[in-house]
Amino acid sequence: MATSEFIPVNEPLLDGNEKKYLCECIDSGWISSEGPFVKEFEEKFAARVDRRHGIAVCNGSAALDAAVAALGIGPGDEVILPTFTIISCAAAIVRAGATPVVVDCDPVTWNMDADQVAAKITARTKAIMVVHIYGLPVDMDPILALAKEHGLKIIEDAAEMHGQTYRGKPCGSFGDISTFSFYPNKHITTGEGGMVVTDDPQLAERCRSQRNLCFQPHKRFVHEELGWNFRMTNLQAALGVAQLERLDEFVLRKRSIGRKYTELLVGTPGVHLPPAQAEYADNIYWVYGLVLDDSIPFDAVEAMSRLGKSGIGTRPFFWPMHEQPVFHKMGLFAGEHYPVAERIARRGFYIPSGMALTDEQIERSAAAVKEILK
Ligand SMILES: *Cc1c(COP(=O)(O)O)cnc(C)c1O
Repeated sequence: MATSEFIPVNEPLLDGNEKKYLCECIDSGWISSEGPFVKEFEEKFAARVDRRHGIAVCNGSAALDAAVAALGIGPGDEVILPTFTIISCAAAIVRAGATPVVVDCDPVTWNMDADQVAAKITARTKAIMVVHIYGLPVDMDPILALAKEHGLKIIEDAAEMHGQTYRGKPCGSFGDISTFSFYPNKHITTGEGGMVVTDDPQLAERCRSQRNLCFQPHKRFVHEELGWNFRMTNLQAALGVAQLERLDEFVLRKRSIGRKYTELLVGTPGVHLPPAQAEYADNIYWVYGLVLDDSIPFDAVEAMSRLGKSGIGTRPFFWPMHEQPVFHKMGLFAGEHYPVAERIARRGFYIPSGMALTDEQIERSAAAVKEILK
C-alpha cells in the first residue's frame, strides 16, 4: 500500500480571492489593523451569524479573554463550563481572577451535559461558558432557560461552528457574547485570528477597548483600565473576507467528508462514530472524531501511533480541564472526577478532516482505521 504520501490531519483551502485581497493590502500599503479589510470582515462576519457587532482579534483564545473581561467577570465570580474543552476557555476565566467550575460531557455528542449545569449554580455563579465541540452544537434551550432563571450571562465559544445552526439559528448568535477562531483548522481561516460578536453595543465597545490596550478616545495615553493588544491585521482580515465568501461551500464540503467517512466506517466493530445529527442540528464535522470501545485492547495514543505509521495524520481529543496539572497546582478541581470526559480523552482522537482532503485520501484514511481495528 502506498504510504509514502502522508495525509495531514488538516490542510486549508486558499484558492479563492485570498491572493488578490492580500495583494491589495500590499499594493495600498495597508497592512496594520487600521486597514479597510478589518471593518469589512467584522461587518460581514457579524451579519453572517446574525449579530450586530463584530470585533476582530488576533486569535480565538484572545476573543475569550476579551469576552470575559467585557462582562466584568473577576475575583469571587464562578463560571460554569465543560471540562472537555480547550485550555483557552478555562484560562480566560482563571486569568480574570474568577473560578472555573466544570461539568462532564455527553458520551454521544461530547458536548457539555446540560443536565449537570443546574447542580453547579451557586450564589457566586456569574456566567455559563458554552462550548460547541467538534461538530454538533450544545443543546442550548435548557441552558438558556437556566441562565434566564438565575440571571446568568452566556459566553458562547463557537470557534468550531462557523456556518452551523441550532434549531435553524446560527451558532454564535446565542451568547450575550460569542466568540470564534480563524486558526487554519477552523472552517474559515485567517492564519491566526478570532472574532467576538454580540448585539450589545456596550459590550462591543468594551471589547474594542480591551483589544486596543484601553486607549482612550480623548486622552489616548491615559488609561483607566488595562487592556491588551489583540488587534487583527489588515492582512489577516483580507484572508478572512476571501474565506467568508466560501463559507457555505466549505460547510457543504465538511459535511460531505463526514458523511463519506461514516459510509466507509459504519459497522466497524470497536469504534464509536460521530452521530450524523441531533434533534436540533446536522453534524458539521469540524473534525471527524472516533472513540475506541472497551473491546479494543489499546488506547488512542497507540491507535494514533499505528495510523501515523500508515501515513495518516491524527490528533488526540482534548484533555479535560479537571485533569490539568497547571490547575491542580492552583488548587483547582482537587478530587473531582468526570468519567465521560476522562474516558473519551483517553480513547478518542480524530482523523484527517481538513478542507483540502480528497476522496482518495478519505478512503485511504478510513481503510487504515479499519486495518488497525482488525
Ligand atoms: C480553536 C479553539 C479555540 C482557540 O482558538 P485559537 O485561535 O487557536 O486561539 C478556542 N475554543 C475552541 C473550542 C477552539 O476549538
